[in-house]
Amino acid sequence: MAQQTLSSVIRGLFPLEKTPGLISLLAGKPNPSTFPFTSLSFKARSPTNPDEELDLTVDGDELKAGLQYSDTAGTKPLIDWLFGLQERYHGRVRGEGWRISVGSGSQDLIYKAVEAFVNPGDPVLVESPVYAWVETDAHGICSTSLRSILENWPAEKPKPKVLYTVPYGCNPTGMTATLERRKEVLQLAKEHNFLILEDDPYFYLYYGTAPRYPSYFNLEETYLGETGRVLRFDSFSKILSAGIRIGFASGPTPLLNAIDMHTATSNLQSSSLTQAIAATLLNAWGYDGFQAHIDQVSAFYREKRDIFEKGMKKHLAGLAEWDTPEAGMFFWFKLLTKDGSEGDSKAIIETTAFNRGVLALPGTAFLPNGRKTAYVRASFSLTPEEDVDVALGRLREAILDAHKE
Ligand code: PMP
Repeated sequence: MAQQTLSSVIRGLFPLEKTPGLISLLAGKPNPSTFPFTSLSFKARSPTNPDEELDLTVDGDELKAGLQYSDTAGTKPLIDWLFGLQERYHGRVRGEGWRISVGSGSQDLIYKAVEAFVNPGDPVLVESPVYAWVETDAHGICSTSLRSILENWPAEKPKPKVLYTVPYGCNPTGMTATLERRKEVLQLAKEHNFLILEDDPYFYLYYGTAPRYPSYFNLEETYLGETGRVLRFDSFSKILSAGIRIGFASGPTPLLNAIDMHTATSNLQSSSLTQAIAATLLNAWGYDGFQAHIDQVSAFYREKRDIFEKGMKKHLAGLAEWDTPEAGMFFWFKLLTKDGSEGDSKAIIETTAFNRGVLALPGTAFLPNGRKTAYVRASFSLTPEEDVDVALGRLREAILDAHKE
């Protein structure tokens, strides 16, 4: 649990420094006039005109702020932009009861959330495969499995306080939770009083044919009619850059205060400079430009998915089975055995396929206690078309080798 420390006390007083007319002798902030950076210029693609490159600059007060310590929850220009984003994509209007905190990637915030809300020994519900227990299928998280777990929960054990779920293009399965499943999970959250940690880094990488499903963050207001049950995690890693390390959490203010307390006692804040770069880019694009950009990104991954699936059909028909992912960057497929028995992908993937020159991840990495499984995770985000054909041809040979044994 987060503890009050001197740094969190000082950081808690930071907002008072903005009081008009106040002379602050509070913080040990370095004087940015001593820093060597005088202007930061970069070029970025225009999302609406492929022939145009935008010349962008962070300088003046924005640069000064970017070089300085900033609010624990994130810089004002970025947070303001993110509120507009959450309204546009999740229908949640800025107001009482909820807010946003920026983290160094969403992983940073997820880690802090778990640290803040879960004590050692507390039961937690997480999907399987991912970490443990609640099954998933082609429609995402199995709400019947979740209901059965909750209704059969041993009376003497404390009930789970938290469900962690990846609703779009789940890593590793690539599956997306349908609207019906989402509603059932929310009903269960209300009935059994648990918090949903909605980890949604693939939200903007949805390239399926159905209209985009509303998020849990949206549905708790529009379907459940009450808020406060969902803590949503977004990430810029897949759409702006993974190295910029920007993610953000949106949810009930007391929960974000607890996360901020962790930040104030660990890394103090996410980089002000990368937040300044992101805010400059996003304000130059505007929300329509952002939408145009994510349309291009998701179309890119849809094409990658199609190329990979064409290769899978060519090389792995009869040797593996899979559901087609509708978001994200993974195929999760099951290696079939010659006699129909339940297989194990570990040796085939780690040894036979590797020796033939193809590297993928055996599904056991995602199962509780390293349970054996015939599943394999293959990422298609980087591989050029010609390499997909070669890689899947090699995988075919590796599976056929295993069948000979
Ligand atoms: N959650 C999931 C499901 C992910 O796949 C990843 C990244 N692979 C993350 C969180 C972490 O993302 P970030 O770069 O924003 O920390």
